[in-house]
Amino acid sequence: MTQIPEDAIKCLDKGFVRLVDSMGGDDAIVQAARVSYGKGTSEVSQDRGLIRYLMRHRHTTPFEMVEFKFHCKMPIFVARQWVRHRTANINEYSLRYSEARDEFYFPEPEHIQFQSALNKQGRAGKVPKKLTDKVLNYFQEISDRSFEMYQELNEAGLARELIRAILPVNLYTEWYWKNDLHNLLHFIGLRSDPHAQYEIRVFSDAMAESVKAVAPFAWEAYQDYVVRGMRFSRIEQSLLEKQLPSRVVDDILEDIAYQITATLHHNKPREDSDLYPLYQKQGGSDSEADFKLKWDSGEIKIGNVRELREFKSKLVNLKR
Ligand SMILES: Cc1cc2nc3c(=O)[nH]c(=O)nc-3n(C[C@H](O)[C@H](O)[C@H](O)COP(=O)(O)OP(=O)(O)OC[C@H]3O[C@@H](n4cnc5c(N)ncnc54)[C@H](O)[C@@H]3O)c2cc1C
Repeated sequence: MTQIPEDAIKCLDKGFVRLVDSMGGDDAIVQAARVSYGKGTSEVSQDRGLIRYLMRHRHTTPFEMVEFKFHCKMPIFVARQWVRHRTANINEYSLRYSEARDEFYFPEPEHIQFQSALNKQGRAGKVPKKLTDKVLNYFQEISDRSFEMYQELNEAGLARELIRAILPVNLYTEWYWKNDLHNLLHFIGLRSDPHAQYEIRVFSDAMAESVKAVAPFAWEAYQDYVVRGMRFSRIEQSLLEKQLPSRVVDDILEDIAYQITATLHHNKPREDSDLYPLYQKQGGSDSEADFKLKWDSGEIKIGNVRELREFKSKLVNLKR
């Protein structure tokens, strides 16, 4: 089985993730979204804005235009979780055809923990050294013994497709795994999450490095709107509607009116005399004197007009 290649990211004790090939990047997402205009007609800042818009509105197909092919080596129990992601194309090392290698996963002592009492699918708590040593000894013993048996049966000419079944799931396997950016982000969303098992998380985090390099705007948008974004259920919204004092919402709406005005002015500078009416048009209700004071303070942040307006309409809905 392949040792760790130079251009790979090492994962766990003997595994790795290596980007073999990729097709497209941020430009391919934009090209697909602007199919009617073709490539190269927009500026980089507009590309970034478009990608952010697509991510925010879950317009996902343009993200499927970017492809990643990875060569990965992982323990079989990690591969079992990984393979649940059905949209990938996979070609795995065959233990029917090839002989198994003596490559088993042994956890680092700090990852040997107790069963979590709170999370039935998690681990927690420090394990005394004596018990950690015992766990590692058992891992070693079962790996060594099962491999000895496997070799003995293999040398006796037994079918590899059957005798592989005596090997434990900490045995390493490897595969080529190809997926598009939309589904890869879905994978990373689930498997880089703190609730995912540590042993698959390290592989997911390693693949995330390739996404950052190949499609940096898409990665940034994914972080802003999916990973760190928040959606409220109907029940949560109705609680917010009832409990959130309307003056708090009004204060935020007021800030948004300032931010939209500043952004519009930044994008296309206005005459000084047009600024207060422009602010009023955005729903701003401060007096002209207060407006001038705040405007001159230099504290108003600029943003993205479309996004600010979307936020405004969500807040207005909360006030109903
Ligand atoms: C923390 C965690 C715990 C888990 N625990 C368990 C567990 O206890 N038991 C268990 O069996 N699994 C478990 N899973 C696996 C989980 O249920 C999913 O199978 C896995 O995360 C793949 O998700 P997916 O189906 O969204 O992804 P993919 O298979 O990559 O699919 C991507 C998307 O494509 C669409 N899609 C793909 N195939 C179909 C289809 N046939 N029909 C309709 N839509 C489709 C769906 O929209 C899907 O979200 C766990 C996963 C996580 C992250």
